[in-house]
Amino acid sequence: MRDTMLKNKRIPDDIVLYNAVSIDESNPAIMRIKDKCIDCGLCKTICEKRQKIKNICDGKACVYCGQCLQACPVGAIVPKNDVDKFTNALRLGKICIVYTAPAVRVAIGDAFNMPKASFAQGKLITALRKLGFSYVLDVTIGADLTVVEEATELVKRIKNNDVLPMFTSCCPSWVKYAENFYPEVLPNLSTCKSPISMQGAIVKEYFCQKLNLNPNNIFTVAITPCTSKKYEVTRKELPGTDAVFTTLELIELIQKNKIDFKNLEDGEFDTLLGNGSGSGIIFGNTGGVTEAVVRTVYKILTNGNIPDDLLQLNPVRGLDYVKELNLNIKGFQLKAAVVNQISSIIPLLHDINEGKCPYHFIEVMNCYGGCIGGGGQPKSLPNNEKEIKSKRMNALYKNDNSKKIRLSHQNPEIVKIYCDLLEEPLSKKAKDLLHTYYIDSSNIGE
Ligand code: SF4
Repeated sequence: MRDTMLKNKRIPDDIVLYNAVSIDESNPAIMRIKDKCIDCGLCKTICEKRQKIKNICDGKACVYCGQCLQACPVGAIVPKNDVDKFTNALRLGKICIVYTAPAVRVAIGDAFNMPKASFAQGKLITALRKLGFSYVLDVTIGADLTVVEEATELVKRIKNNDVLPMFTSCCPSWVKYAENFYPEVLPNLSTCKSPISMQGAIVKEYFCQKLNLNPNNIFTVAITPCTSKKYEVTRKELPGTDAVFTTLELIELIQKNKIDFKNLEDGEFDTLLGNGSGSGIIFGNTGGVTEAVVRTVYKILTNGNIPDDLLQLNPVRGLDYVKELNLNIKGFQLKAAVVNQISSIIPLLHDINEGKCPYHFIEVMNCYGGCIGGGGQPKSLPNNEKEIKSKRMNALYKNDNSKKIRLSHQNPEIVKIYCDLLEEPLSKKAKDLLHTYYIDSSNIGE
């Protein structure tokens, strides 16, 4: 009934949209199917509410998070589809390598009549192999590398009295938001690339070398909950990943290929770059990056065994918009904050400006819930959003809890990558491959 009503309201292609968010043709992440749009304005409302910047919707100021897509009641905003790039690569005989972000595995089953937030990792791997990928890897490896580099960078900044608080940098929408609207805090951003960009760099440099593959003959795809990653991989300083599919595009591809996802056998990741730690898996949740980084910071500062309460860091878990951590690590008082949804960062940015910010470390995720609530995930309805997100979060925490290796720095794969290639965290090689820089783009309106 509601669908019929909405259908009747559809507007002709040549009518100007007054209420809808504006999406440039050049937007690398999302696009509008204009004849589906009913100009209801829900996309603009969510953008203004969650980004807290009026007129952000002028296209150029877009941070590519796809929350407008999640809000659209008629499916008129969709991810820009990258699937053709992959089918072309297959046709050209390229070796296709895929790596999947943590949050995808707890959402994809929703589209295939599985119980909400099922942990569908095994079926996801099998589906990706059926689609033609020669290697199926896990972005939890990139996340483990991020943890080790970021924890080392944080301790170095604290010891050297360098720029603090240090912000996380794994959310490309947050990075773009800072570049567009608050360039004065760019020195506060960790220089670490995101897990996906670290994974792409390591695949092309390390994986290819280990397996004797020609990097020019491979094609890499990241599967993400995030429309913004489509933008991230277009940044010239972040090479390595050739295409990004959101969970939504992957679902469509699986359906198109008539793969019976629900009844697939469970598969396993490849052994090289396929076994991330529990810390890598919780990256998908708001607070997960902080919890993972704190585990490794503890190791760096004390060289001791991690106490049990750091393996379930309750102050940074849950769906509050801002969470605070005050942790005594053998006499050092570490203060951190977790920002869950981008608009909640604004008061903290004002505090920093006034020199009143008490934190050493601040995690910022654009999307409510973190990446499990990314713009490229299967949609939840406003009335069940919290419930669905809590279930996805719990599924990732449960998986962390079940892992033998829960600490990034203890992951044997990570130890080996440092031994074979990177030498140590923040080495020249690590900085070349795993770190980046930012660009003041606050002149977007000029
Ligand atoms: Fe993408 Fe995650 Fe950031 Fe959302 S929170 S924009 S899903 S990286």
